[in-house]
Amino acid sequence: ARYVFRFGGGVSDGGAGDRNLLGGKGANLAEMASIGLPVPPGFTISTAMCSRYYAEGEQFPASLRAEVADGIAHIEAVTGKHFGDPADPLLVSVRSGARVSMPGMMDTVLNLGLNDETVQGLARAAGDERFAWDSYRRFIQMYADVVLELDHGAFEEALEIAKEDKGYTLDTELGAEDWKALVGHYKALVEEQWGRPFPQQVEDQLWGAVGAVFGSWQSERAKVYRRLNDIPGDWGTAVNVQAMVFGNMGDSSATGVAFTRDPGTGERAYYGEFLINAQGEDVVAGIRTPQYLTRAAREAANARAPSMEEAMPAVYGELARVFETLETHYRDMQDIEFTVERGALWMLQTRAGKRTAKAALKIAVDMAQEGLIDRETAVLRVDPLALDQLLHPTLDPEAPRDVVAKGLPASPGAASGRIVFDAETAEQRANAGDNVILVRIETSPEDIHGMHAARGILTARGGMTSHAAVVARGMGRPCVSGAGSLAIDAKARTLRVAGRSFKEGDILTIDGATGEVMAGEVATVQPELAGDFGTLMAWADEKRRLAVRANAETPLDCRTAREFGAEGIGLCRTEHMFFEAGRITAVRQMILSDSEKGRRAALDRLLPEQRADFVAIFEIMAGLPVTIRLLDPPLHEFLPHEDAEFEEVAAASGVAIEKLRQRAAELHEFNPMLGHRGCRLGVTYPEIYEMQARAVFEAAVDVARRTGDAPIPEIMVPLVATRRELELMKAVIDAAAAAVFAETGHTITYLVGTMIELPRAALKAGEIAEIGEFFSFGTNDLTQTTLGVSRDDAGRFLATYVEKGIYAKDPFVSLDVEGVGELIEMAATRGRAARPGLKLGICGEHGGDPASIGFCETIRLDYVSASPYRVPIARLAAAQAAL
Ligand code: ADP
Ligand code: MG
Ligand code: MG
Repeated sequence: ARYVFRFGGGVSDGGAGDRNLLGGKGANLAEMASIGLPVPPGFTISTAMCSRYYAEGEQFPASLRAEVADGIAHIEAVTGKHFGDPADPLLVSVRSGARVSMPGMMDTVLNLGLNDETVQGLARAAGDERFAWDSYRRFIQMYADVVLELDHGAFEEALEIAKEDKGYTLDTELGAEDWKALVGHYKALVEEQWGRPFPQQVEDQLWGAVGAVFGSWQSERAKVYRRLNDIPGDWGTAVNVQAMVFGNMGDSSATGVAFTRDPGTGERAYYGEFLINAQGEDVVAGIRTPQYLTRAAREAANARAPSMEEAMPAVYGELARVFETLETHYRDMQDIEFTVERGALWMLQTRAGKRTAKAALKIAVDMAQEGLIDRETAVLRVDPLALDQLLHPTLDPEAPRDVVAKGLPASPGAASGRIVFDAETAEQRANAGDNVILVRIETSPEDIHGMHAARGILTARGGMTSHAAVVARGMGRPCVSGAGSLAIDAKARTLRVAGRSFKEGDILTIDGATGEVMAGEVATVQPELAGDFGTLMAWADEKRRLAVRANAETPLDCRTAREFGAEGIGLCRTEHMFFEAGRITAVRQMILSDSEKGRRAALDRLLPEQRADFVAIFEIMAGLPVTIRLLDPPLHEFLPHEDAEFEEVAAASGVAIEKLRQRAAELHEFNPMLGHRGCRLGVTYPEIYEMQARAVFEAAVDVARRTGDAPIPEIMVPLVATRRELELMKAVIDAAAAAVFAETGHTITYLVGTMIELPRAALKAGEIAEIGEFFSFGTNDLTQTTLGVSRDDAGRFLATYVEKGIYAKDPFVSLDVEGVGELIEMAATRGRAARPGLKLGICGEHGGDPASIGFCETIRLDYVSASPYRVPIARLAAAQAAL
């Protein structure tokens, strides 16, 4: 097999399509050369050699020597210079380049091929002594740092001392003799630290650098980066060896980096920086302040140093033409590295430029409108998950920040508000019109209403998957979790941090994108939902087949969901409504009662409240389908804990406190997740589901009559395992419907279906579909029950599981397609066989995960349902899945 691929001088052995083999950098160098752009000649040693190098015990096969020699000969032929030639030496750079750009890989070595002899030749050939010695000192320092891995601090120190001795402040003040002296120091440093003299043989230099590139593939830094970014370890890196061009040959030379459009805003304006008489990474290293590329940018920044457009108008013009060529050719925004050698422009790299979500959106829409790409491509260009950044208010970047603590960026967006330390106060203050930030050591399910009422959530404990983080993301509330330096005293209602003290009602600001906690209010800017966002979403909607619904139960969430384009509610969790202040006592009275009569008395009190909930939702959803899940969680979640709470229930129900306590103790469960919950509640206490169904139908009739938009209730029975369970529950629901329709003289079309969230239900989907008119895959519980992993306890081991490759991703974030997915597919097939046209959807976290949505498209579900803030993500992901 062949391992060396040439480019430049009219030759291109590869091209942009060979990214896997040549790495991104190598493939694009070959591509640029093939479309006639000025690229210094060179060759790429393929990623396949990297794999072979490791397979053969970190050895190069003998055949590689000959191939590399041919590669060098190619460069020599094009440049007319010879590697190691003391009279006029060819110098090269050695550059790593994996398929995707990867920090952690070896840094580039420039000016390779210099030694004590060739440096003289370079000086003579260039007619510039200073330039030659500047290049040599750069080479020794880079080689010592990245190939020999010596302590680079000593080299920087030597340079600083040299400057101090001469009274210089800038590198540019050093002359040929200064650099010559420094080279002497550097060589001594190498010998001292490495134990051997600096390699003088250019072949040794080259192989040392090539070996270092391959070696860096398995460096700790690279491994960590791969793990964090899901990059397989067997991809390997390529090595690029390329003729040097020199940006440090005086004032007609320069080096720079540029984007063809603004990567921050997406504006169609060249964006970049350059430095005159500089080399390599001087621009990003911050040794000198770089200059702007365009006059407009310089003027906008009020900078004095001339832009490239002004300082080198001819080369700038050529560069601008290259930008246009590259954009037309690649049909995407490009990130470019270039060098100017004595007035001649050379391209050293191009790749699709990284950009903010905002820029991605604008560039995709603009390019489609410019005719550079079609709408499908525009829709495919934007990462659905990146939309998340755009949907929340963000802190005004200009506003000053008084940061007092830092936690985890648990849920994006920013919020300012008065701090409160418990959910009740959060709700009261919010109802009174305050913006509040709920501050808790950690949150629990009982805090839900307070989290809802709050603008933002701040916790001292808990990670990115803590209750606070998960719930906040689901609700679209900004959240900073695990800010360990907060000393919270919830009783005293105070918070101490960084030597300062805050009390209830004081104002804090949190930034869920950075984890910063700030004293006082910081101005925010609202997201822009029209404009480019609206345009791209409309294109996405044209392409997608899957419908997108929202998981929502409060009027606020329902409205947000509709603003974000939800086509119905896929999951309305009725238990959240039970926690509302004012009703919890009735709920507790119902639970703690030991007779049907007692329960009915409490349920009668809840009925009008539930009905009002559904009226509000149906009005907002105006004729769209609304899937209502009947009560699901284990009853003990609603139990009172404190004396005052027991007293309240006792007063309301007329039952003695002792009896209530006893009943509460009876309700204890060892494993509530698999306990008395879901339809098991409806089977044992049918009156609960009867009340809920009645509330739904009464509300539906009321709204249909008043507004003319008849809602489409889809009543969903949770945690069904058998046909018989659903049959019993359907009878309760149908009876409630018949009663309401008879009483009101108005009929509503509705469906009764079930959540498929137990493996048995998936297996018996054929039988269950005989009763149920729709299935919604409850993938949170289905994942828990299929994997036998409790979501609340998985934190301790799941990361290790993912690290060891047991699961590719956290199965609670991205559907385990192989396992849980097979069950879903089977249930869908069996269900549809039993009931053609069976409506199929998915709710749960996975409904907002692009990869999981891709799977839902392959098995042709009818809809996905996601939390309101994930609705746009789901719309875009569904469109991408369909394309
Ligand atoms: P990175 O992947 O870190 O960007 P590169 O391999 O692109 O590393 O090299 C960094 C910089 O080194 C380039 O932007 C360019 O300025 C300089 N460089 C690399 N190869 C050459 C070369 N053949 N001639 C001149 N400069 C080069
Ligand atoms: Mg680098
Ligand atoms: Mg680069």
